[in-house]
Amino acid sequence: MSSDIRLLSKEKLIDWLESVNEPKFRANQVFEWIWQKHAKTFQEMTSLPTSLREKLAENFIFQPMEIDLIQKSSDGTIKSRLRLHDGHLIETVLIPVPEENRFTACVSSQVGCSLACKFCATGMMGRIRNLDFPEIIDQVIHVNRQALEYFDHPLTNIVYMGMGEPMLNYSNTLKSVEIITSPKGLGMSPSRITISTAGIAKMIKRLADDGVKANLALSLHAANDAKRNEIMPINDQNGIRVLMEALKYFYQKTKNRITFEYLALRGFNDQNEDAIELAGLTHDFPVRVNIIEYNTVEGIDFQKSNADQLNKFVHTLVKNKVNVTVRRSRGKDIDAACGQLANK
Ligand code: SF4
Repeated sequence: MSSDIRLLSKEKLIDWLESVNEPKFRANQVFEWIWQKHAKTFQEMTSLPTSLREKLAENFIFQPMEIDLIQKSSDGTIKSRLRLHDGHLIETVLIPVPEENRFTACVSSQVGCSLACKFCATGMMGRIRNLDFPEIIDQVIHVNRQALEYFDHPLTNIVYMGMGEPMLNYSNTLKSVEIITSPKGLGMSPSRITISTAGIAKMIKRLADDGVKANLALSLHAANDAKRNEIMPINDQNGIRVLMEALKYFYQKTKNRITFEYLALRGFNDQNEDAIELAGLTHDFPVRVNIIEYNTVEGIDFQKSNADQLNKFVHTLVKNKVNVTVRRSRGKDIDAACGQLANK
């Protein structure tokens, strides 16, 4: 079976061009059609001679990704369910904040997820497969089109916070970031991209060693190991101390921004002592804490914190000099909010 042209590196494409007696400079043109003009057929590549377009079409394909369902929330959030070439479904979300000129794509990196966090709908699905890097980039292109269509504004930010753990699909995650940020690709600034991880210490260090130019978010959700073990099985092998060391290493090497994501769960992690413990984790490197309102997921017992308790929690953090933001949940009426993505 022919392979997807977009999975080919430029070197491999040059090898192929030479094998069919075509000049190697055509590789740049093909790449421009794919990653800048987002061509979906070889016929569209009108700057190439017809004979080359025919050879390409005989040897390669574009694996299609189709829109399966679009849901629009009353708050403007748009969730898309996309069907991959093998029939699997993934979800991707446009989160518009027009008053701040912020239009964020929340993209998936895997079909399902193996990490089984107890509060997460995706975790209940298990992991089905990794996404190839073009499948990650296709989500960005799709959501960018939606942002232009509905808000007359291009995407400003990308977060790898949809379905899956990007660090367990490391090479495709990195390749997608490379193309999204390349001037020969989508040309977005790396400072607008955030990779979110449930916390795999050795991969955080690898990200630093590979000099990745993107921000990092740790889904922390609990500030001590006993509580974190209860809700995130990954913490068993990647305890908080080891994670903090890895993040410190990441910051020292890259100076990229680090965020802690913290879902406020009623009676579980929203008490004063939790805030004090959380504050204690914020002094070794600059970090911003995003407190996220929890959304109920069918079959999962957690509830969101009540407003009073959340205020007290945030007040304690502020008193302890923590840089904290409370993120109101977006898209919860269409199951598009954090932890709700499960192809419903
Ligand atoms: S929260 Fe993220 S890492 Fe945890 S199960 Fe859900 S998708 Fe996976």
